[in-house]
Amino acid sequence: YAGLIAIVGRPNVGKSTLLNALLGQKISITSKKPQTTRHRILGILTEENRQAVLVDTPGLHTEEKRAINRLMNRAASSSIAEVELIVFLVEGTLWTKDDELVLSKVKQSGAPCILVVNKTDNISDKDELLPHLQKLGAMHEFREIVPISASKGHGVDTISQLCLNSL
Ligand code: GDP
Ligand code: MG
Repeated sequence: YAGLIAIVGRPNVGKSTLLNALLGQKISITSKKPQTTRHRILGILTEENRQAVLVDTPGLHTEEKRAINRLMNRAASSSIAEVELIVFLVEGTLWTKDDELVLSKVKQSGAPCILVVNKTDNISDKDELLPHLQKLGAMHEFREIVPISASKGHGVDTISQLCLNSL
């Protein structure tokens, strides 16, 4: 059985880095035409008889200047609902308007979501992390909130297990 798992987040939060770490290889993008299909397949996590197909949901752009982007965003909002799990990536203790927009799409979709707080290695004041996680936890009923460092490989196994266990 293969289930779809969407990795979402504003640009630069570390989606590609996490994906590469999850797949254990540097080549992650299998299709370069995100706007021609409802999902762009990024890679497949396999373990025994479970498979998670990691997808990028096309059109989750944060700029809505052009009408075409608005249309793509609407398409993305409907296709995001088909996924088993959303992995919503944010960056350290930063929370921006763009994260807000992604969160609104997550809420719209109604799909279960784990919030992954990446780049924790960059947080200089570690005392800031816990209150920040609590603040994020109050925003939505996330299934889990997991602090990680994708580039250092911290917490990547946890994400991998949560993905496979969601199927
Ligand atoms: P994407 O746009 O969401 O796909 O983000 P990328 O995976 O391309 O990462 C954006 C930048 O953040 C790159 O320079 C990465 O090296 C960096 N980055 C990703 N994960 C981490 C992390 O855990 N810690 C730190 N310090 N940098 C990271
Ligand atoms: Mg990327």
